[in-house]
Amino acid sequence: MLVVMQEGATEPQIQAVIDRLVSLGFTVHRSTGVRHTVLGGVGPVEDVEPADFEVMEGVKECHRIVSPYKLASRHFRPGGTVVKVGDVEIGGVRVVIMAGPCSVENEDQINRTAEAVARAGAAILRGGAFKPRTSPYSFQGLGEKGLRMLREAADRHGLKVVTEVMDHEQIPMFADYADILQVGARNMQNYNLLRRLGGLRKPVLLKRGPAATIEELLLSAEYILTGGNYDVILCERGIRTFESYTRNTMDISAIPVVKKLSHLPIVADPSHGTGRRDKVLPMARAAVAAGADGLLVEVHCDPDHALSDGAQSLWPEQFAELMGQLRIIAPAVGRKV
Ligand code: PEP
Ligand code: MN
Repeated sequence: MLVVMQEGATEPQIQAVIDRLVSLGFTVHRSTGVRHTVLGGVGPVEDVEPADFEVMEGVKECHRIVSPYKLASRHFRPGGTVVKVGDVEIGGVRVVIMAGPCSVENEDQINRTAEAVARAGAAILRGGAFKPRTSPYSFQGLGEKGLRMLREAADRHGLKVVTEVMDHEQIPMFADYADILQVGARNMQNYNLLRRLGGLRKPVLLKRGPAATIEELLLSAEYILTGGNYDVILCERGIRTFESYTRNTMDISAIPVVKKLSHLPIVADPSHGTGRRDKVLPMARAAVAAGADGLLVEVHCDPDHALSDGAQSLWPEQFAELMGQLRIIAPAVGRKV
C-alpha cells in the first residue's frame, strides 16, 4: 500500500496515516521527497481499500502496489534515490566511476593502480580481498590484510572504497575498511547475507546474478530495503546466455528497464560483462549512453600478471582513454563525469 501525502501535509497528519497502517498490520517505510512524503506499507494489501486512506486529512492519493517488490519500486520514490558516500553521490547528475583491480594482490599493486585511476578521474577504488572464485584452487584473496591495503591506498589518493563481502559473519570486519559493501553475483540470492546488510547503515552494491531476471534482482534488493537500509546500488554485470564468445552477455537493456521499474541507482560492470579487455570500452560507453549512474571497471597496473581476471582488466592508459570518451558521451545524455 502506498500513501502519497499532500504537499505541506503536517506531521500529525502523517503520523495518523502511519498509525492506521500499523493498526492494520502494515510495516511502514517512510520516504521524504522534495515535495511529497510517501508512506510505503508492506502488509495485507488485499484487505484494505485505498479510499479509506484517501479521505484522511493530508492524503493526496493511495494505491495498492501490485508489483512483487514494493520498496524497490519506482512508485516508492518517484524522484529516484541518490546514494551518498561522503561527498560522492551515486544516482545524481554525475556518473560515478569505480575502478581498480579484480583482487588486491600486494601493496605496490594496489597503490600503483589507485594512483592511476585517481589521476584519470575515478571517485571510488574497487578491489576484492575476499574472492568468490569458481575453482577452490584459484587465488582466494588476501582477506583482512587486503582490506587494509585497499583502504590505505584509497585514502592516499582521495578515493572511496567498494569491496565484496562474501559472508554475513564478515560484515563487522568491513566497518573500518569499506565505504560500500559489494554483494557479488554469486551471492545475489544469499538471503541471509542480504537481510544482515539490511540492518547495516552503509551503502550496498548488489550485483545481478548470472542467471537472474531483473525482477529477481529487484526482489533481492527488497530484502535489504525491508531492513531499513535504503542505500542500495544495483549493478548489471552480464548474464549467462548461449553466447560463448564473451564471458557473459552484457545486458545493456537492463539499465533503462531498471530505471523505469525502480528508484534505485544502477551501475554497469563491463569487465565481468564481457571478460575481454578489448570489449570493455565499447560496453562502458554504451552503458553510460543508456543511462547508467556509474561504472565498475577492472583496471590493473600490470594486467598480464594479475592473479585474477587479467584478461578483462584495462591498462591504466586504456582507462584514461575511456574517461576521456565518457567526458564527451555523458553531456550528450544530460550527465557529467
Ligand atoms: C568482482 O567484482 O570481482 C566479481 C567477483 O564480480 P561478480 O560477482 O560480478 O562475478
Ligand atoms: Mn573480477
